[in-house]
Amino acid sequence: MAAPFLPLTRPTIDEETIAGVGEVLRSGWITSGPKVKELEAKLSECFGGRPVRVFNSGTCTMEIALRIAGVGPGHEVITTPLSWVATSNVILEVGARPVFVDIDPVTRNIDLARAESAITPATRAIIPVDLAGQPVDRDRLYELARRRGLRVIEDAAQSMGSTWGGRPVGTTGDFTSISFHPNKNITTIEGGALVMNDEREAKLAEQYRLQGVVRNGFDGMEVEVVGGKFNLTDVAARVGLGQLPRLAEFNARRRELAREYFLRIDTAELREIGLGLPPADFTQSNWHMFQIVLPEARLNVPRATIMGELHAAGIGTGVHYPAIHLFAVYRRLGWKEGDLPLAEQVCRNILTLPLFPAMTEADVARVAAELHRILLAHRRG
Ligand SMILES: *Cc1c(COP(=O)(O)O)cnc(C)c1O
Repeated sequence: MAAPFLPLTRPTIDEETIAGVGEVLRSGWITSGPKVKELEAKLSECFGGRPVRVFNSGTCTMEIALRIAGVGPGHEVITTPLSWVATSNVILEVGARPVFVDIDPVTRNIDLARAESAITPATRAIIPVDLAGQPVDRDRLYELARRRGLRVIEDAAQSMGSTWGGRPVGTTGDFTSISFHPNKNITTIEGGALVMNDEREAKLAEQYRLQGVVRNGFDGMEVEVVGGKFNLTDVAARVGLGQLPRLAEFNARRRELAREYFLRIDTAELREIGLGLPPADFTQSNWHMFQIVLPEARLNVPRATIMGELHAAGIGTGVHYPAIHLFAVYRRLGWKEGDLPLAEQVCRNILTLPLFPAMTEADVARVAAELHRILLAHRRG
């Protein structure tokens, strides 16, 4: 009998959380309310007491951070081409211009030396991304930001629970944006959180979150900024309250499975064909994803064929991500093939393997065995 299909990822929602959601649904208050407040308080504890507000995505969090920072038309924001397209769409959303710089091919994160070279008088902010949970160097990032007077919006959508220099992501720095999409290490189904610097920013974030509304007493209402509709429901917040206490356990399990991947795929045969592995970081990364880079020059089929054969063997994989600057919207702004060669090479060949807390060591062994079989069958030269 064939093994059941192994998906790329799957959330772990416990029965206590499911029961808790039932209680919220029966409570008479299902949209933003006490559960949202409770989740914000618990998250603030995780982020060293800094102000936190939750939202219905980890995209609007970045858009709102840009608005709070006063970034808009005529401004430039430096970011990486190797991310989910949300990272740069929010820059366009506020009317600013995204400026992509190439990546460090080892960490696959933004190259901060190149970021510095890209600064112009119009640059207002930088949005670095902790790809796969591997943190961007916070010391260099904030040394640069302070010296050049830039705001930082950390796209930490993938790095909840990662650390830098022993300190959890989000406990230091400027803005930190987290996502609770179901694929992330903890989920609220859809949702996100923004960690800010002070109560003034948090109050503004609340306004941008819900139509700009400020209430006073029983009947007073004012609107001073054009806000949107970005609030999280109490049903979603209850899911998050069940997930948050399990974050450390989930991340520890991801780390164990990542170690197992190294044991199984860092082999002489795959090294010989030049398979690219992620940094073996078992202290700082939360192992949001395990991503390999296929050796295109040594394979006689494209990535899609490898993915198709893994799928036929019962294994789900994903591409995170195609290079953002080569999407039509960004090409229309003038970006083209060859502008960012390191990112383009990685984006053409990157492949995400299954990794989630409910996986077993046997699942990892199966992925590794099928990967060996398929890559070696398509070896060239
Ligand atoms: C998931 C993700 C986002 C957006 O999060 P949503 O909650 O889906 O809006 C942004 N950036 C990165 C790098 C992500 O992985």
